Amino acid sequence: MREDIIEKYLEAGRIAAKVLKEVRDFVTPKKKIDLLEIAEYAESLTIKYGGMPAFPCNVDLNEVAAHYTPLTSEPVVFDEGLLKVDVGVHIDGYIADTAITIARGEEYIEMARVNEEVLNHVIDEIRPGRSLGELGRLIEEEVYSRGYKVISDLAGHLIDRYNLHAGKNFPNTGEPISSSIKSGEVYAVEPFITFRDGAGSVDRVEPTHIFSLVKTKKIKDKRLDGLRKLIMSRYGPLPFTPRWFSDKYTYEDVVKLESMKYVRGYPPMIEKSFRPVSQFEHTVIVLDGDVLVTTRV
Ligand code: MN
Ligand code: MN
Repeated sequence: MREDIIEKYLEAGRIAAKVLKEVRDFVTPKKKIDLLEIAEYAESLTIKYGGMPAFPCNVDLNEVAAHYTPLTSEPVVFDEGLLKVDVGVHIDGYIADTAITIARGEEYIEMARVNEEVLNHVIDEIRPGRSLGELGRLIEEEVYSRGYKVISDLAGHLIDRYNLHAGKNFPNTGEPISSSIKSGEVYAVEPFITFRDGAGSVDRVEPTHIFSLVKTKKIKDKRLDGLRKLIMSRYGPLPFTPRWFSDKYTYEDVVKLESMKYVRGYPPMIEKSFRPVSQFEHTVIVLDGDVLVTTRV
């Protein structure tokens, strides 16, 4: 990988790590939190530090495992449970994808601690030539042996320029047939875990607040074509939320684009048995002699 590209990945990672640290400090003293305030805080810090959001900040509480971002103020009393904050930053399309879980209450704090340790252990095992399915098995077995269960249908993923999910998965379960890690690849690694009595899988639910543009052809309707152009120029193929342009276009406008197959939605994913889910995520660059964790402080 070219040195200047590595530097852009590293810069995106440094910003994302700094944002998550400040989000943690922001949430820690509060009992009453507002999910919108947290998402907007993360996104505005990203820009303040010279990055661009690679996707809307995900703020997923308890059984909500992934892909939730608020559109309007959502105050909640957070005295027990798991709050996941998942941040994406890009520099010139080179993405950092990283998440933490803020845990309250003894059993939740313990789950989050195990989750973070499992992530760090599997990162230590990453190198060119390793089978992704074997690393998934390592995650699954360690999580199980420590008393928890992985969410088997959520996975890490290959990252490429302006491409958050660039094909290959980094599974959280053993897979007998899978591809191997190659030098020059960038992965987001993200074990999601729950209590042993949980289903260990997710359902997709409404409403969807995160979308991405999948078709760029001109639209006859002037208003919708304006929205298409705005999305294309500001976010390209990366995920966005209607919250980012609510001064100009409505949620319904985006839903129209979705029905026309111009955008696709990423619905929130909820643990099937409504058990709380923990997540930690880092982005890593795999090189021949070295694995760089871009999002580690
Ligand atoms: Mn993420
Ligand atoms: Mn990810």
